[in-house]
Amino acid sequence: MTQHTMPSSETRSADAMLRARARLVVPGGMWGHLNAARLPDGYPQFFASAEGCRVRDVDGREYIDFMCSWGPILLGHRHPEVQAAADAQAAKGDCLNGPGEVMVDLAEELVAMLPHADWAMFQKNGGDATTSCVTIARAGTGRRKVLVARGSYHGALPWCSPSVAGVTAEDRAHLLHFEYNDVQSLQAAVEEAGGDLAAILVTAFRHDMGRDLEVPTRPFAEAARAACDANDAALIIDEVRAGLRLDIRGSWEVLGVRPDLCAWSKAIANGYALAAITGNDRFREAAARIFVTGSFWCGTVAMAAAQATLRIARETDVTSHVRAMGERLRDGLAVLANQHGIAVRQSGPPQMPLMLFESDTEVRKGRAFCSAALRHGAFFHPQHNMFLSAAHRPADIDEALQAASHGFKAVLELDP
Ligand code: PMP
Repeated sequence: MTQHTMPSSETRSADAMLRARARLVVPGGMWGHLNAARLPDGYPQFFASAEGCRVRDVDGREYIDFMCSWGPILLGHRHPEVQAAADAQAAKGDCLNGPGEVMVDLAEELVAMLPHADWAMFQKNGGDATTSCVTIARAGTGRRKVLVARGSYHGALPWCSPSVAGVTAEDRAHLLHFEYNDVQSLQAAVEEAGGDLAAILVTAFRHDMGRDLEVPTRPFAEAARAACDANDAALIIDEVRAGLRLDIRGSWEVLGVRPDLCAWSKAIANGYALAAITGNDRFREAAARIFVTGSFWCGTVAMAAAQATLRIARETDVTSHVRAMGERLRDGLAVLANQHGIAVRQSGPPQMPLMLFESDTEVRKGRAFCSAALRHGAFFHPQHNMFLSAAHRPADIDEALQAASHGFKAVLELDP
């Protein structure tokens, strides 16, 4: 074991001390997109606690949270009814020799709630669910090609990771790409797949990092459905990020387009680790035939948390409230940007908004805005879509807008 001299605690924050310790025992200090080096200056790496729409870092600073744990927190951190359901289940046992009654209850609830679904299966992470959807589609069709939109994120597994490190070309051998919302490019990819088309996999809306968000157009959604029908392939919607925030029946229900398979995670258990696949009867047999499993996939606590989350989402019209809070934030940011004479572009559904600055290819303005807003108590993101929750109240949004006004001032103070 190596001896390490730790920095003096008198001069360093708890966050800095934890970062120094982590660098020694965690490769890179932290993996993936969560490495604070990727975030604007001043962003904490480590968090201590959270309640409602507020998160606290390990130095005791509190922020109004617009990331909601990158999506899972739909109802607010530590929502009392979700906590009570999870605690009651935990008292009976979480990790058993197989599933509990709660798995069947939850599958019945999803099937009742989602018009496209005849069945459900459960896992842990979003990447489990997107991967299994692809496996089911291939098993069900006996074909290989999967069409994905260029730049869409479906998880960090070798077949879909945004990085090439450690990934082989063979891992992605049967993926073909199209442009989101571009019917022609979709049809060209369908043609390229020819008789080998297993599935079209598409996110609920276009939420690629660092570019304006786009909701799907009706012609695009209908073309995806029609191409799958004409070729006997599966339409898979990746609801991992958007699920429950746009429409609790499924994000494309409003477009009149239903998927064959859907991948869910993040918000469905309000912060507890759970993913789900839902599907229709066309793919039931294939879903039964593939071999999938995970040591923790039957965990009863997350399923009990999901039951409570879904019930509350149904009973309280959570999407309308979350949308209203997102609209309040968006309107307030537009007014402030205008007052400061700063050009911004706001995009996406208000529940999952993004604000980008004009002429900001290197994200200097976005980062300066976020750093200053953070110092005044609002946790925004400069490039990734943000998330509103049912715990945000108008007063929280107004307080965050005060913090945002410091962000806009910081942008004005940047060197030209
Ligand atoms: N699909 C989408 C659209 C996502 O946003 C994510 C996670 N950000 C995933 C899949 C993968 O989910 P997980 O990180 O839970 O594996």
